[in-house]
Amino acid sequence: MRYSRTIQKIAFFSFGLFFISTEVLARAGGGGGGGSSSGGGGGWSGGGSYDYDGGGSGGSIDANPIHIVLIVIAVFAFYYLKNRGNFSSFFNNEQSNMPNKAMPEGLDTKKIQLSFMGIQDAWQKKELKSVRRWISDGVYQRFNAQFAMMNKLQQTNYLSNIKINAIKLANTQTDGKYQTADVAIFFTMDDEFISDKYKSFNQKYKGESAMEYWTFIKKSEAHTQKNLYDNNNCPNCGAPFDVDMGEISRCSSCGTLTNNASYDWVLSEITQENDYTGNNENYEGLRELTQGDDLFSIQRIQDIASNVFMQTMEVLSGADNKKLSRFADEATTQHILQLKKQWGSFVFDRLYLNTVDIDNYQIDEERLHILFSMKATYQRVQAGEKLSLIDSEMVSERFYMVLSKNKNALQTTQKETVYSHECTSCGAPYTDTTNEVCPYCQAPVLDFNKNWVLTAFKTA
Ligand SMILES: [Zn+2]
Ligand SMILES: [Zn+2]
Repeated sequence: MRYSRTIQKIAFFSFGLFFISTEVLARAGGGGGGGSSSGGGGGWSGGGSYDYDGGGSGGSIDANPIHIVLIVIAVFAFYYLKNRGNFSSFFNNEQSNMPNKAMPEGLDTKKIQLSFMGIQDAWQKKELKSVRRWISDGVYQRFNAQFAMMNKLQQTNYLSNIKINAIKLANTQTDGKYQTADVAIFFTMDDEFISDKYKSFNQKYKGESAMEYWTFIKKSEAHTQKNLYDNNNCPNCGAPFDVDMGEISRCSSCGTLTNNASYDWVLSEITQENDYTGNNENYEGLRELTQGDDLFSIQRIQDIASNVFMQTMEVLSGADNKKLSRFADEATTQHILQLKKQWGSFVFDRLYLNTVDIDNYQIDEERLHILFSMKATYQRVQAGEKLSLIDSEMVSERFYMVLSKNKNALQTTQKETVYSHECTSCGAPYTDTTNEVCPYCQAPVLDFNKNWVLTAFKTA
């Protein structure tokens, strides 16, 4: 990492800004995390060689011989640093330094492998149907929002030669009525980030080495021991899964939520090595306030927060404003729409939600408010005939948001429904975003007694 940053510096001082715009890292990291910041924040970069697609347009590399010479120098410098042995041994050392801890019950390397390879495949196909049954709603939303952006820019991230080098358990925690497991996955792959229309952003990396933390969650007292990973059947009734599961991962035969942590370990977050903190905070007070709610856990409320965040970012980049009416109160909706006006029309070229943290919580007479701090990495562009850049490079920004719920509702377990996509009262799917009440039971869509409601959203 340090070495790739040195390269950036060399590149920056020698060649000026043109290089920076191409130094943005490719690979989505199979989702949530990914590129990290390149300018100052120090994203990781692989231990392999990389080369560029000479796209031509828009301030990127062109056929200018000076540029080619400079690239050769940069690549040479990269190899020079690499061959001092420090960088290439970095991952290997870390891999063998990490102790071998036994996986928690029900989770094994085979499931993790299936999960990892399944996500990479889904990522490059921009199609989540084959993994939907075992990913959390937040993970689904993170991917789905990114796919929407990538499609606007006609981007595809092709991955090949994917090899898992090691899988190690990093951490397990009891989290309310749930258990979480952070698994470190060491891997190498070739990575091509390609847009057919805007070639200036195209990137290729060969033999990239990296490590990511994959967080899985399971109910501590799960009654069943199912495997969601090695078959295509409903864990409840055995019917084959529908191929068209989208936001909602319910079996059409028996109505069970398949990505239910009562059945098996569910993938609920992917964190890049640089962003991982281990998150050993206790949140004692928060747990006490919510201990009567069997479905409350820190990981799960963070999942809801990432869900809300990604949907909000989609609205900011052009999606229907009415999306907000499912989770944001009126004042926050107005604030977000103002921000949307201010930012103008744009598309995110990459949008990674790096971290979701609980900063604080507050309780007033009526409600509990949980303050989240999120770090996201992106580049805003305008996509016309040519791309024009709003952010000249990938930027990492901090966002803050508050989710609130009525105090007297904290101790009650609600029906398990898909956040912002199903009615918390009757479970019916919201097919029409324009309704303020559920079309079946007339329950309000926004209800502090049943749901977490977005009551603040701001940029740092
Ligand atoms: Zn079923
Ligand atoms: Zn309803």
